[in-house]
Amino acid sequence: MRLSYRPFELEFKHPFGVSSNTRTHTPTVFTKIEVHGFAGYGEACLPPYLGETTESTIAFLEKVQALLKRFLNPLQAPEILMEVDKLSEGNNAAKASVDIALNDLIGKIAGRPFYDIMGFNRPLPTPTACTIGISGEKETAQKIKEANDFSILKIKAGTENDKALVELIRKYTNKPIYIDVNQGWKDKYFVVDMLHWLKEQNVVLVEQPMPVDKTDDMAWVLQKSPLPLIADESIKRYKDLDKIKGCFSGINIKLMKSTGLIEAHRMINYARQNNLKVLLGCMAESSCGASAMAQLMSLGDHVDLDAPNLLKNDPFSGITYTNGKITLTDLPGIGAIPKIPF
Ligand code: MG
Repeated sequence: MRLSYRPFELEFKHPFGVSSNTRTHTPTVFTKIEVHGFAGYGEACLPPYLGETTESTIAFLEKVQALLKRFLNPLQAPEILMEVDKLSEGNNAAKASVDIALNDLIGKIAGRPFYDIMGFNRPLPTPTACTIGISGEKETAQKIKEANDFSILKIKAGTENDKALVELIRKYTNKPIYIDVNQGWKDKYFVVDMLHWLKEQNVVLVEQPMPVDKTDDMAWVLQKSPLPLIADESIKRYKDLDKIKGCFSGINIKLMKSTGLIEAHRMINYARQNNLKVLLGCMAESSCGASAMAQLMSLGDHVDLDAPNLLKNDPFSGITYTNGKITLTDLPGIGAIPKIPF
């Protein structure tokens, strides 16, 4: 099999603010794996805070290029992905791009979508949260207006002004809100007070309220929390799940953290066995990565896959947003195709 890659800069429609920074672009690297005239596509989306770069991703994919030459059949994916995983400790996004491209290729050859090959229910149109970045009142009002179709809003919080931020949103809409704190709250008493206050504001879940290393505080907070608490930065892969026992009510699974669809599915099974809620999330990725994740929609409790909707230059077509719901294409594989020459 032959692997090629293409680096790309994804541009946001609006500069994207989280508690730690604001950015206008996200680097991504698309992967293509070909065999017998079929091509599968994958994506390694690289928001800077994850520590993977275009250069480190390309260096990793060049190792995978050499490895894939030894394999003729994408159905050897389990063996291939095990060998790919051993190539380095990290590079989770790069590994995800290989997993996604291989699963896309298998689906293309079989003429069936990934969810069907895996035996999952066909995902019905599913509401997704729509993220409103941190900004001034005028911009926030404008973004709320643009999100008119969506039934759930998501706010990137994590500053001292979070109450003011929620009050600002509440001037314009009463829709349910997901709050993503991005590790921004440091004091456990403050966190519990905030959670009770947010509960009264029709907030339905809170993501990663405290820093990753505050596991004892999180266990204490969880006991007192009136809202579901979802781990994001605290977990990346399957092996991380045991470490957060008793600290969260659910997990945010993203392909760029989990190293792809196969491990994401294992994480969902773990969550089901351990009474954890599943939020299917994504990085700031294109319709390539988000369409792959949407194949798992029938298995999740919450869906937060609006990233392609926030982009100005999505180079793939795939999932669509209609009345705030995500609809899959009926295309084989991950259900996405490139709009640019690749
Ligand atoms: Mg998050």
